[in-house]
Amino acid sequence: MSEGTGIVYLVGAGPGDPGLMTVRSLDLIVAADVIVHDRLIPRDALAAARPDAELIYVGKEPGSASVAQDEIAKLLIKRARKGKIVVRLKGGDPFVFGRGGEEAEELAAAGIPFEVVPGVTAGVAGPAYAGIPVTHRDDASAVAFVTGHEDPDKGEGALDYDALARFPGTLVFYMGVKALPAIAERLIAAGRDAGEPSAVVERGTLPDQRTVVSTLGEIAGAASEAQIKAPAVTVVGPTAARRDRIAWLERRPLHGKRVVVTRARAQASQLARRLAALGAEPIELPAIRIEPRIDSKEVRRAVESLHSYAVVCLTSANGVHQLFEAMEAQGRDARALANATIAAIGPATAAALAEYAVLADVIPKESIAEALVEELSKLDLNGKPVLIARAAEAREVLPDALRERGADVDVVALYETVAERPSPEAIERAAGADYVTFTSSSTVHNLVEALPEDIAAGARIVSIGPITSEAAREAGLTVHVEAERHDIDGLVEALLADSTNG
Ligand code: SAH
Repeated sequence: MSEGTGIVYLVGAGPGDPGLMTVRSLDLIVAADVIVHDRLIPRDALAAARPDAELIYVGKEPGSASVAQDEIAKLLIKRARKGKIVVRLKGGDPFVFGRGGEEAEELAAAGIPFEVVPGVTAGVAGPAYAGIPVTHRDDASAVAFVTGHEDPDKGEGALDYDALARFPGTLVFYMGVKALPAIAERLIAAGRDAGEPSAVVERGTLPDQRTVVSTLGEIAGAASEAQIKAPAVTVVGPTAARRDRIAWLERRPLHGKRVVVTRARAQASQLARRLAALGAEPIELPAIRIEPRIDSKEVRRAVESLHSYAVVCLTSANGVHQLFEAMEAQGRDARALANATIAAIGPATAAALAEYAVLADVIPKESIAEALVEELSKLDLNGKPVLIARAAEAREVLPDALRERGADVDVVALYETVAERPSPEAIERAAGADYVTFTSSSTVHNLVEALPEDIAAGARIVSIGPITSEAAREAGLTVHVEAERHDIDGLVEALLADSTNG
């Protein structure tokens, strides 16, 4: 083939918990030119896809037709023949009731190179998250994965219930819950013990996983009473009774709690991870994005006359990086700052400067504008040209105070921070949140900008400390919990304490 043949990866995305995706699957998602995916793949599974990757959804929406299987195979083959790296992403394991076998055969017949990347299958993982081992040395030395048609009487997939009734081990059924009454009835009619422990696991490994345990005779009624819906797996076998002792997910202190984490910096994912480890469902709301403004006339002029400033103030690490970008764009380097006293608002800004081998002359103890003013007041600023290079939206404390002290102040906006719009899905999840966390004033501002006004009105608000609380109150919010220790650990502790009391 003149263009060179591509390759198709048949990849399992696991049962739903993003943490159960394999390293290989994540690597391939990053590398893919094309990703052809189903509905039951983990949330955000495609987040790491290249922005220019072609994402093709071929799943079945409830109530509408799915893309026909031979269409999917054709699609994979066509893309691969164009030399593309194609990832065919399926829920669970691609070869367990995922029609992965059929797709592989079609690829083989078409002479397309392919690779199979197994995934964690729902029939093992769902029970595991429910505290049910599918095998056990004492009472289950075999396990059968079973699927069938919604209507157990029909179709070539009709099951051999006599064989299943005799099967010496755990039965795991992958199928619609609607079929459950008929399956249970037939198993019992074929001789399986009506008193055998059985369980249904709904949305296994997902934060809202639910489990119903009963006996084979009564499991269908119990599931229907609990309004269990797809996707769900049913476990029939003595190990289902071990959930009593083994259940672990529900015992986590924040199990079932939805917690909004507003991303401001990298620290947010650390918080999200901590919360998830305690059993909460973190809902991460969007980060702020930096939009450089270094092409503006204003910035260009400031860079051209950098050598003439007596003092150059930098108020964020982002500002430092943008300034040096702007300098580079105009063919300048750090020597342009040689004449100036360099003031950094705090250690992070100073560290960014140090990356360019510039050591800040002034760094106040506290990283706030007022403290910087105090430090700078020690210099004689009268009539001196001062440049403040910063974000477009910033407080006027610094320029005002320096002008008051006689300085000739130029303010230049190097970049803008833009709040990214959360997806409708994220907004919906946030609406039902139990907690909203704020780790800084900027997270307060981001959230207020990103979300409709009265969203998460029922949530309790947890703040990392007094300054953040103040920002929240200024934004019209009620702070329910304020951390005693003003760091991520302190915030998590405070939230935990609140949820145990409540
Ligand atoms: N290849 C997938 C199964 C695809 S068939 C795998 O290996 O897991 C789809 C069926 O899988 C659903 O009807 C349901 O029975 C089961 N299933 C998929 N995800 C599930 C989940 N998170 N919890 C419970 N059952 C799930």
